[in-house]
Amino acid sequence: MKYNILTVDEIPAYLALRAEDSPYSERLNIGEIDSIEEVGDGNLNLVFIVRAVSGVGVVLKQSLPYVRLVGPDWPMTPERARIEATTTKLHAEVAPGLVPVIYDFNPERYIIAMEDLSDHVVWRTALNAGDHPTGVAAAMGMYIAKVAFGTSLFAVDTVELALRKERAQNPDLCSISEDLVFTEPYVDSDRNSCLESNEPDVHAIANDSELKLEMAQAKWIFMTHAEALIHGDLHTGSVMAKTGSTGVAESSKAFDSEFAFYGPVAFDLGALWANYSIAASRAYALGEDVRAEKCLRLTEETWVAFDAEFRRLWPERTDKRMYSDSFLDSLLSKWREETWLFASAKMIRRIIGLAKTSDIETLEPRLREGAARGVLQLGQAATKSRKDDSNPRAFVDLAQAVLTRARTN
Ligand code: ADP
Ligand code: MG
Repeated sequence: MKYNILTVDEIPAYLALRAEDSPYSERLNIGEIDSIEEVGDGNLNLVFIVRAVSGVGVVLKQSLPYVRLVGPDWPMTPERARIEATTTKLHAEVAPGLVPVIYDFNPERYIIAMEDLSDHVVWRTALNAGDHPTGVAAAMGMYIAKVAFGTSLFAVDTVELALRKERAQNPDLCSISEDLVFTEPYVDSDRNSCLESNEPDVHAIANDSELKLEMAQAKWIFMTHAEALIHGDLHTGSVMAKTGSTGVAESSKAFDSEFAFYGPVAFDLGALWANYSIAASRAYALGEDVRAEKCLRLTEETWVAFDAEFRRLWPERTDKRMYSDSFLDSLLSKWREETWLFASAKMIRRIIGLAKTSDIETLEPRLREGAARGVLQLGQAATKSRKDDSNPRAFVDLAQAVLTRARTN
């Protein structure tokens, strides 16, 4: 069957049709259209920004039956659009304002219509440019806490929870993470690549049996701990922020949740920590040490906000009989330790495996070598030292030491 790919020409009529009977008809029928731009810089999907003469906009995102980056040779279920639409709506209920508003989802054509965030910037882009909007890391900590509480057994009735878990099954995208994050960096895979000068570092990873055992543990937690409806791909390229004149973020939003499933809460925290560390490694490579430390301190900001928000929500849990305050303390310390583990997995994968980060890749090879080595060595070291002290402060100290030692100039 031929797949009906959305085109620019078709969009005005498409929007008018979808606006009929929609509670968001005003958001979809935006009046005379000024421009339609395909902006999908992502790896997977088509993204169009549609702007009206009046200035208002709407974004259309369509998933294709394959990976956009590779083409039809890598088929992938377009159902991921349904996962993203339903997850974003559920997240909007528990964490209002921290995700884009979904106006419409068309299950026949796998097209989402959502809030236009053109007045925001992608957080990774801002950080790479040396721009640090204040408060985004804390907002993301709050987002993870609200989702961890609000989509879990602490807030959702058992029968409803079982149904939600069933609907959130996302095996195709989960298996991408299982392969790319938790397996391929540690084995010989065609999809791995690195600078020749980093080959000894990659071999050191493959020969580190203690690390591999910890990563088997991480993979097992990822595949078995259905704690909450997590985002599943919460790197700094999945966050957009709008900054006011004071440099404080007026709005922070997590988007692109097509990898969502019922999984471990610390996976989202670890993804952020890993990307803060990667941003720091770039800054150290460029000799911008003060800024690098600013990137690293985001780990504390996210954790502290997460911890505080989860504790704030805790009295609202539906069943207090067994889930005591002591249980809360042990749960948070378990998550804090797992955050180190998942951060390590995410750091290593972004250097060795498929889908690297612009932070490192846009450095000239001489600087890239040390920046990549630092991230790999931090992954190795953090996995092991988390058991001694899992405070984010200890992570910052470790990262500072490892990244500055590894950099090349
Ligand atoms: P993919 O799933 O293919 O990775 P993304 O959801 O990450 O696609 O979107 C790709 C890019 O499109 C983003 O990096 C961002 O620049 C832009 N984009 C996505 N959603 C919006 C939105 N709601 N408003 C404005 N720009 C957006
Ligand atoms: Mg995506």
